[in-house]
Amino acid sequence: MKTYIVGNWKLNFTVGEASIYLHKLLKRLPNYRDVEVVVAPPSVALQPLSLQIDRHKMKLAAQNAFYRDYGAFTGETSFTQLHGLVDYCIIGHSERRYIFGEDDKMVAKKVAAAVRNKITPILCIGETESERTFGETADVIRDQLLSGLSEIGAEDVSKVLVAYEPVWAISSAKGAKLASPDEIAEVVKLVREILKEVYGGETAEKTAVLFGGSVNPSNAGAYLTVPGVNGLLVGGSGLILSQFADIIETAKRVRS
Ligand code: PEP
Repeated sequence: MKTYIVGNWKLNFTVGEASIYLHKLLKRLPNYRDVEVVVAPPSVALQPLSLQIDRHKMKLAAQNAFYRDYGAFTGETSFTQLHGLVDYCIIGHSERRYIFGEDDKMVAKKVAAAVRNKITPILCIGETESERTFGETADVIRDQLLSGLSEIGAEDVSKVLVAYEPVWAISSAKGAKLASPDEIAEVVKLVREILKEVYGGETAEKTAVLFGGSVNPSNAGAYLTVPGVNGLLVGGSGLILSQFADIIETAKRVRS
């Protein structure tokens, strides 16, 4: 399986800035065949960047999309419209869940719409700090994972990238803490156990599980060697080109 390094740019960069960043990153990176580099720019930059990107070196992701293909849904962009522009879409990010009120049902419909439109969903799941404190982590992970996958067929489950992103470890969270490799390993193991129980061992093995939460060049190596982790979802550090490039180079080193 490839190692995935995904940079989520969130609501940062103008189209011009995004284009300059991409230009510099493309220039700096060789083609690492076993590391799949993905950047998720703001939606307004997707079309121009889709013309600029070298898909042998990296791929584009959307940060969000709506589950209906066309219609009276003012302000939305559909997966149908994104088809051909992006290869991936982040779905169920905690900022979508907690700032924009997306629930598990909405997330499930988006995962299904992505698969229907041949866009790989990056399904984000993760507990909040208080859920962890109250011992609810396993239940939250099970609920978010199984409901997120509930609208797709079993044969499509291994196409989804699951990103474990504990909300308390995301750098923008107040008082964010670093997740320890053991904490991550435990949840990643749980994700695979749930997938095995519901969809079988082969699907559990084949489904990529990423970690995200305050990843930076100094902890990327440790996180990438957590058993069962197939890649990283990077927020803040992905906005600084030298740091993102370092993380990608770390992934390459860890792989070889
Ligand atoms: C994220 O928001 O997906 C994320 C992982 O952010 P950060 O790396 O800044 O914690």
